[in-house]
Amino acid sequence: MGAVDQSWQESVFTDGHFHRPAGGAIIPVRDKASGEIFAVAGLATEADVDEAVATAKTAQAAWSERTYADRAAVLRGAAAALSERAKQFRDLIVRETGCIGGKADYEIGAATSELMEAAGLASHATGEVLPSGHAGRFSLSERIPVGLVGAITPWNFPLVLGMRVIAPALALGNAVVLKPSPETPVSGGLAIAALFEAAGLPAGVFQVLPGDVEVGQRIVTHPDIAMIHFTGSTKVGRQIAQTAGGLLKKVSLELGGNNALIVLDDADLEQATMIGAWSSFHYQGQTCITAGRHIVQRGIAEAYAVGLAARADAIAVGNTFTEDVGLGPMINSTQLERAAGMLSEAVADGARIVAGGTTNGPYFRPTVVRDVSASSRLWTEEIFAPIAPILVVDDDDAAVAAANDTEYGLVNSVLTGDPYRGIRLARRLRAGMVHVNDATPQDEALAPFGGIGQSGLGGRSGGEANIEEFTERRWLTVTEGPAHYPY
Ligand code: NAD
Repeated sequence: MGAVDQSWQESVFTDGHFHRPAGGAIIPVRDKASGEIFAVAGLATEADVDEAVATAKTAQAAWSERTYADRAAVLRGAAAALSERAKQFRDLIVRETGCIGGKADYEIGAATSELMEAAGLASHATGEVLPSGHAGRFSLSERIPVGLVGAITPWNFPLVLGMRVIAPALALGNAVVLKPSPETPVSGGLAIAALFEAAGLPAGVFQVLPGDVEVGQRIVTHPDIAMIHFTGSTKVGRQIAQTAGGLLKKVSLELGGNNALIVLDDADLEQATMIGAWSSFHYQGQTCITAGRHIVQRGIAEAYAVGLAARADAIAVGNTFTEDVGLGPMINSTQLERAAGMLSEAVADGARIVAGGTTNGPYFRPTVVRDVSASSRLWTEEIFAPIAPILVVDDDDAAVAAANDTEYGLVNSVLTGDPYRGIRLARRLRAGMVHVNDATPQDEALAPFGGIGQSGLGGRSGGEANIEEFTERRWLTVTEGPAHYPY
């Protein structure tokens, strides 16, 4: 076993001093491939949440008074610090999430884009001068910060899913209280706090509280947290929405998906199988925008299944930190066993495995399955593992009907040789995002990312949509001359 990095233990959350031990347990931070404990982190308690919120509340008032140029400079400084620490972040993300280096590089690049776009956003939360029906009245609508934003994030893309909330929320004058997943307390929180500290963010404006369910619940219910931004499973999102609804608290939910990749009979076969493999196997299928359903027209179905299976068989699976592989370990045994169980049920229901289907320790071979029953859990639920189930359909109408036959609505893709046919079909799909001739996993800092149905509630992440998310509108009037009322 290598040296254990203790340094994260003492920077559990950022209060007035940026480094403060938390009240909860010290937890091991494990390398997901080897199981090695390579660092330790402290867990926050509900009392820590209360203290962090009190500090953040005072700090937010001063932060929102700073000029947009000051706020933008801090965000650019955090981007510069991330660039200087890219190697540290790469290793952290690879080990904490069990991903390949390329996915860690993607997260670092995407988080940098979030910071730089947010720096520009700081000066773009403009209001409007409104016409008024009252003579002598000056009337305007201005943007004001929400106040304290509570962010709760998952383990799969810890850096970028945190940053896409933290960066715009801070840019727009809010303070942020972040609870990363206990699977990824460092790259999902503590190392991010260190970036903002290096960039000169005033102490208290950003608080990091690694913790479990109780800490998350305290953030949701705390009366001084004005808004909850949650990224995670639909099950937990629903509970948070119920609690926040009772408290009349603003909530934004980025939830799960059961996304369809539609392959039309005029699609280029090589492109289709490459896009199909990436859409289902990328990061072991553990993303909300993974394709969990391949809906393929009959004319191309046989060749597509054979080609996709060949690509799956060619992928090397192993330790992403020490080996040159395409896929790494599953995040934990619970996720692995759940996916294996769903696969066994589908096979018992008549499905045929044509590639993969095996596990070895934390590793799940990329798997292609044919003849999946549309009522099996493997088809109806979010899988979160590298499994590509294929359903064969006869025409465009049947493809649309199959894709829309889900309670989720995050992202779909359509592959076709005719982009206009793709656009026509895309517009019939019930999802927050649709990509013609590309993979389902796509994200850009400027694009409105989000889902409908059971995949999300509230606004969108990205670009101008962030202004709607992280500000409120205030109607402000000034009336010239004396007012006249009946009494
Ligand atoms: P999860 O819902 O189990 O946990 C997400 C976060 O919520 C974690 O920090 C967890 O500790 C916390 N949490 C759990 N129960 C809570 C409660 N009762 N109150 C408050 N906080 C609570 O999700 P996960 O397993 O970490 O992540 C995988 C899920 O996230 C998948 O369903 C995936 O689709 C979804 N996801 C969605 C997006 C998106 O943008 N739509 C992005 C990534 C992941």
